[in-house]
This record gives sequence, structure tokens and C-alpha cells, in this order.
Amino acid sequence: METFEKAAAAERPAGVRELPIVTGHLALDFANTVDNRFDHLGTYPGLLHWAVRVDILTAAGARRLFETGPQSLRAAHALRAVLVEVFGGIADGQPRADAHWAGLRPFVTDSYRHCDLLPHRGSYVMSWPDDRPGAVLWPVARAAADLLTAPDLGRLKRCAGCPWVFLDRSRNGSRRWCSMEDCGTRAKMERYVTKRKASRPR
Ligand SMILES: [Zn+2]
Repeated sequence: METFEKAAAAERPAGVRELPIVTGHLALDFANTVDNRFDHLGTYPGLLHWAVRVDILTAAGARRLFETGPQSLRAAHALRAVLVEVFGGIADGQPRADAHWAGLRPFVTDSYRHCDLLPHRGSYVMSWPDDRPGAVLWPVARAAADLLTAPDLGRLKRCAGCPWVFLDRSRNGSRRWCSMEDCGTRAKMERYVTKRKASRPR
């Protein structure tokens, strides 16, 4: 039987890399799912594969969802579009989250409508059922609402080398790239080449 893992791998053409997951924040990682113009959430198996990688779903849960049949990606893409607008705007110094709240609110209310409260280490965590199509979007929407009201929001930045956004958690606020291994390395290489060119005698 075909699994979602195989289907997700098949959707990715040769030469397209596995999506780097760079921010460690669900809402931002969800916004950063188009890489070099390739949409890693372009198919339902792709969405499930991403959800397993960021620990929203277990592999078994994703397999179960996959077997219940293909689901519409319209909601996932609508949520991503609003997160790209909201967090991109904030990173660019033009916050308009309130203007986009009408687009985001249905996802957030849906998230709270479906969540359970589980005791966890003397406190509680929110938890969502993993057997319904919304399972991937509920934790993402909740993470987005949390970030919008967190002091951390001021640390939101856009990568100097690509359109992705990230939280700069460095002590002196000096992080410039979504990932040092990727955009950071590329920028350093380009600087190195430019320097070498400049220092070459004519
Ligand atoms: Zn980048």
C-alpha cells in the first residue's frame, strides 16, 4: 500500500531539496514552506509529511489521515497566506496584524473549539485530536495567536537572503539569516568572491 511518505517523496522532483525547517516556531515554519519557488505543501501527502517533521502528527497518525483519503488544501493555503502577510508585515516594520485578523480569527477560533486541555508537569497543555483533517492547522493557528501577543514578536525578522521570516533569539539581536548553513553561508561566499574580485590586479 502506498504510504504518505512515499507519496510525499514522489511529489518532490529530483533536484528539489527536503524543506529546511529553520525557526522552531510552528506558525513561522508553516509560513516558510515555499522554498526556491517549490511549494512543499502543494499536495496532501506533503502537508502530512511536514506535520510529522514538526511533531504535530505522529507517523502513525499521518498514515491514518492519509488513508481516509485526500483532503482539500484550500484551508491550509489560506492560513499560510494570512500568516505570510501578518508576520512578513511585522518583520518588515509594517505591522498590519489587526487588519488581517478577520482572515486569521476563524482559524484561531476553530483551533480553540477543537482543543482539549491535558495535565502536564503541574500545568496544562492544549492538545488536538489527530484523526481529523484540521489536525495540522489547529496547533499552527494557536501558535500564531500566541506569537502575536508575545513579547517575542519584536524579535521577528525577515531573512537577508530569502523571503522567510524567523525569530532572532540571539542575545544582541544580530541574526540576519533564516539559517546560517544556508542563506548565511551563501552570503558569506558571495562576499568572499566579491572581495577576491576586488583584490585581483587588473
Ligand atoms: Zn534565508
